[in-house]
Amino acid sequence: MAKYTESKCRLCRREGAKLFLKGERCFKGVCAFEKRPVAPGQHGMSRKKVSEYGLQLREKQKCKRIYGVLEGQFRKYYEKADRMKGITGENMLSLLERRLDNVIFRMGIGSSRSQARQLVTHAHFTVNGRPVNIASYCVKVGDEIAVKETKRDNKYFAEIKQMKVGTMPKWLEFNPETLTGKILALPVREDVDVQIKEHMIVELYSK
Ligand code: SF4
Repeated sequence: MAKYTESKCRLCRREGAKLFLKGERCFKGVCAFEKRPVAPGQHGMSRKKVSEYGLQLREKQKCKRIYGVLEGQFRKYYEKADRMKGITGENMLSLLERRLDNVIFRMGIGSSRSQARQLVTHAHFTVNGRPVNIASYCVKVGDEIAVKETKRDNKYFAEIKQMKVGTMPKWLEFNPETLTGKILALPVREDVDVQIKEHMIVELYSK
């Protein structure tokens, strides 16, 4: 399975924004972007005038990196969103939010999307009682997500059971005691808390 191999903090510096790719570390005052908020590399300090195309490209790269999706798959999300009714950019973000790795992250089971992705690919979850280890699995309304019976006693999930449920997106439900959750609705734009100007991505792809 292809994935990003570049340092996560370099990705934040490249995009000029905190992308929160490292879970708790991003909140602990050791954030590399806060220490060096310039692009990585020899010319990171130089200020260049960025074209409209450049701004659109950066917005697309930022979105891909936040969700940990590579170019080919990201393009497919755009194409699918474009075929759906409604606003293409919002549809695209909704599809990205519905990825199983993102759902596990948003339920608070993983501290970052990449950790959630690892938990999914290591086969820790079931959807509607069936094992699913595909990070891009697209959830739908009514799906029931659960930690596999055989994994419930491991140390990581024992700690999750003690977790207090924080602010949960209103389209999701998660019960730490039973390690089960449910998709209550499809996510809409206001449920997406990433700082993305999705219309710029649509403009880029529709050229
Ligand atoms: Fe980005 Fe988090 Fe690294 Fe800061 S600590 S640069 S927010 S990945």
